[in-house]
Amino acid sequence: MYDRVFNFSSGPAVMPEPVLEKAAEEMLNYEGSGMSVMEMSHRSKVYDAIIKEAESLLRKLMNIPEEYAVLFLQGGASLQFDMLPMNLACGSGTVDIVLTGMWTNRAYAELKKLAKPHVVASSEDKTFTYIPKLTPEMFDDSADYVHVCWNNTIYGTRYTQIPPCKAPIVADMSSCILSEPVDVTKFGCIFAGAQKNLGPAGLTIVIIRRDLLGKQPEDLPVMLNFDTHIKNSSLYNTPPTYAIYMCKLVLEWLRDLGGVEAIAKVNRRKAEKFYAFLDGSDMFRATVSGVDRSIMNIPFVTGDNELDARFIAAAESAGFKNLKGHRSVGGMRASIYNAMPEEGVDRLIDFMSEFEKRERAK
Ligand SMILES: *Cc1c(COP(=O)(O)O)cnc(C)c1O
Repeated sequence: MYDRVFNFSSGPAVMPEPVLEKAAEEMLNYEGSGMSVMEMSHRSKVYDAIIKEAESLLRKLMNIPEEYAVLFLQGGASLQFDMLPMNLACGSGTVDIVLTGMWTNRAYAELKKLAKPHVVASSEDKTFTYIPKLTPEMFDDSADYVHVCWNNTIYGTRYTQIPPCKAPIVADMSSCILSEPVDVTKFGCIFAGAQKNLGPAGLTIVIIRRDLLGKQPEDLPVMLNFDTHIKNSSLYNTPPTYAIYMCKLVLEWLRDLGGVEAIAKVNRRKAEKFYAFLDGSDMFRATVSGVDRSIMNIPFVTGDNELDARFIAAAESAGFKNLKGHRSVGGMRASIYNAMPEEGVDRLIDFMSEFEKRERAK
């Protein structure tokens, strides 16, 4: 088709092609309104139907009970590192946190300013290549909540078990939301920037159990208070209207292909193939081993920086884009979110295998 590449970017990331096509079709005239969604008042009837449908689709796909509010916010996942303690660290003020990489380090830095953080465990000793084993004694039972990053985008690890803690779990699912089924009721809050698995940048989803709120200080700024956004159904001020519309299209696409169970099967198959190739290769190897391996972000290396660079350049020119690892870890990383077609993974594996043969023949 129109020269689309295989885009392995960690985010903003690949979007489902049918979603981009639908958006293009509706660009100039959304459902007979005579205007683009981005030109519409967020108070209009037409737009209200869009945001309501986005929420309803997300609730159905993730099985979100009524006790949870669903919010469409701005400021990225990063603003949640501030909003969460501001709104939830209002009891003992203590917040448990498990350090598993850069995104929890960022959250921890904010917790130091806004709460009393307690580090439960850290995997920094091995460059965050695993999820620490967690036992009940490690947690502070008086904590207002426990902050975890469910899928570590940069290091390629993910949780497979619910942490054994008493306090409500707040999970950063920016890079894994909707990739596999999760039991929402096991969490106090799930939040995610949209630009990995949900849509374009500029939108952040927060799913929060309503009974955790209500203890915020009176002088909490209005835009930083979850209650403001709950009371106003995410329409207190102008929300990121177009990003929400795109998110709605992504959710429709996911529903039509069978929902989270169905995409999870494809995701697991994609990841298994890729890890199997890496494990069998003499040139490439995965940096994470065992059950903690992410099925969304797969970092890998050759062990030789110069060879890594040559591989990345060769891949780029063959149409496999954005395989360079995060600047803090180097090497390579393939982000294979929901919207990355299985064919993209198959073709990348073929390319890597050919590359390996060519280099060995030198
Ligand atoms: C990308 C990412 C973030 C940062 O998101 P922003 O929207 O840029 O603030 C935070 N946490 C995780 C796990 C991420 O993958």
